[in-house]
Amino acid sequence: MNVTIWNEGIHEELYPKIKEHYPNCIHGTLAEIIGELPQVDNVHIATLEQEGCGLPDEILDKTDVLLWWGHMAHDRVPDELVAKIHHRVLQGMGLMVLHSAHFSKIFIKLMGTSCCLSWKEDTYERLFCVKPSHPIAAGIPSHFELGKEETYGEFFDVPDPDETIFLGWFDSGELFRSGCTWHRGYGKVFYFQPGHETNPTYNHEYIRKIIQNACIWLAPSNTIEYITSPYIEKTLEEIRKTK
Ligand code: ZN
Repeated sequence: MNVTIWNEGIHEELYPKIKEHYPNCIHGTLAEIIGELPQVDNVHIATLEQEGCGLPDEILDKTDVLLWWGHMAHDRVPDELVAKIHHRVLQGMGLMVLHSAHFSKIFIKLMGTSCCLSWKEDTYERLFCVKPSHPIAAGIPSHFELGKEETYGEFFDVPDPDETIFLGWFDSGELFRSGCTWHRGYGKVFYFQPGHETNPTYNHEYIRKIIQNACIWLAPSNTIEYITSPYIEKTLEEIRKTK
């Protein structure tokens, strides 16, 4: 499996304190999490500052699962690139949308809604697993304490998820659909809320496990080069004749 991790990479440069939790930036920690999976053959890292956002066709075309973390510069991702990623998802590429990437162009395009949510500074978060039979929830307890995390709340303006796997409860009173899936074309999408850059969220054992499970689940189960409606060659009459 080829996995590509896309990180905007700006926060780490502007606020060096983030490197206390993520010495090799957020993408470095995500690469470490994904690199632990025996199913993964290659992990490619791409950032906004790289030529073509680090996602030339030759990388995108062979990516099975793409992870996306962004916040400050969603608008700097070119529309042409977003269109290519969108097409790759429809062809079967899995997409994991992390935390503030709910406002990324690609997520909004795939959802077709505003993807707005209610927001507050850090409070205390507890995550509940509400679909324990889902492969993304394998090995995750009924609930666990995440601790300090940026507060996201409902209403989260997304289409009804195909599956809601995690709910976030915050001690400030908010509730949030923290882990949700959708199918788009031949591809799968997983949105996962935890991961504010100033908190050590991606060092938490259960967060890491969820990201690993999601990566495996998102891997294409069926792919197609061009999205077309296949022509059904045999009429029912012909099939009956051959019987
Ligand atoms: Zn944040």
